[in-house]
Amino acid sequence: MSRLLVKGARLLGTESSDLLVVDGVITEVGSLAGTSADETVDADGLVALPGLVDLHVHLREPGREDAETIATGSAAAAAGGYTAVLAMANTNPVTDTAEAAERVLDLGRACGLTEVVPVGAVTKGLAGAELAELGLMARSRARVRVFSDDGHCVHDARVMRRALEYLKPFGAVVSQHAQDPRLAGPDACCHEGEVSGRLGLPGWPGIAEEAVVARDVMLARHTGSRVHVAHVSTAGTVEVLRWAKAQGIDVTAEVTPHHLVLTTDLLAGYDPVYKVNPPLRPQEDVDALRAGLADGTIDAVATDHAPHARHDKQHAFVDAAFGMLGLETALAVVSDTLVRPGILDWADVARVMSAAPARIARLAGQGQPLRVGSPGHLVLVDPDREVTVDAGTSRSRSRNNPWHGATLRGAVVTTVYGGRVTHTTEREPTTATGSSL
Ligand SMILES: [Zn+2]
Repeated sequence: MSRLLVKGARLLGTESSDLLVVDGVITEVGSLAGTSADETVDADGLVALPGLVDLHVHLREPGREDAETIATGSAAAAAGGYTAVLAMANTNPVTDTAEAAERVLDLGRACGLTEVVPVGAVTKGLAGAELAELGLMARSRARVRVFSDDGHCVHDARVMRRALEYLKPFGAVVSQHAQDPRLAGPDACCHEGEVSGRLGLPGWPGIAEEAVVARDVMLARHTGSRVHVAHVSTAGTVEVLRWAKAQGIDVTAEVTPHHLVLTTDLLAGYDPVYKVNPPLRPQEDVDALRAGLADGTIDAVATDHAPHARHDKQHAFVDAAFGMLGLETALAVVSDTLVRPGILDWADVARVMSAAPARIARLAGQGQPLRVGSPGHLVLVDPDREVTVDAGTSRSRSRNNPWHGATLRGAVVTTVYGGRVTHTTEREPTTATGSSL
């Protein structure tokens, strides 16, 4: 029997409480003075949230272990406060069979730092033509419930419709990388607008995303099935989602930390670290994404953690790979840019980074409130600690971190997964205000 005692944590940022986790389950919450434990965590002044759940990560294994592995990605997840991550299917080979999904599941379990949940491909080889083994993946040991061709859009409406119909009885969902390939163009590498014109870079118009989201919410209504929109990036998409939800259509959506903060203006220096798909957009889109997250139109924050080896990313802007790291900085970015100015409170953070993503992915053991009977997955956050991001100290195997050098307030101190501490940083000594040391 293992007993972990967490002392004096502020549950969702409110009242201070102790928590006892026995054999991976929360068994007591309250004032637990005198309770014995094998391990005690001093959480005085720290905010306790349910373990974070990321709907969208790329762990690159199998196939691109030079950029990330399930082990290094799991370590980055634990350092970021995550107790579950959904590993996208665009590996080599693609996760488009039950065996491939089970392999990812087993590799994740062998690491034991976070729950690694395989996402299944919608179409064979992500080619967009023929449905993958959706039923076999759903019925496999991996119990796949999220399907995505992420990196590619399921652009054929007939294929999308069939996938939605097929997945409906499983309660599974298609997570769509919404981007009409005909509207976007093969060479697009940034947002189509004033900045792309000035820099002479081929751009993606926002309409390439919005048109597919509009089509997909109508397909969700027609089939009665669920659609999830990955990495929403435009104000127009937020409008479509708001309308669809008002109609009662079963649609959910996620936004990345980078789309909530960074804008297309950063491309002025042609730094490939800011090259991402979907692209960084203008400030008015960023504002709409923040408003959509705050009012519940967007359900979740997901990182789209996309590690790339230096030899793929360190190129001229047009030739560099798309994507940026996110797992280790997401909580700090959300804390600094949304909690500190009062756009979200800690209960909202628990909703958008844990409860909602767990519900969307049908992960019964994740995203549960911190109360007796819930699984012992939690993260302790110091809301006042300032950390300057150093890409060089990342647990990820890659270094394409757009936050390098940024100072963010709000830091993950300890992550507990199934009652085990999977990550912890040194606490800074607490000093009373005005004391001279
Ligand atoms: Zn994507």
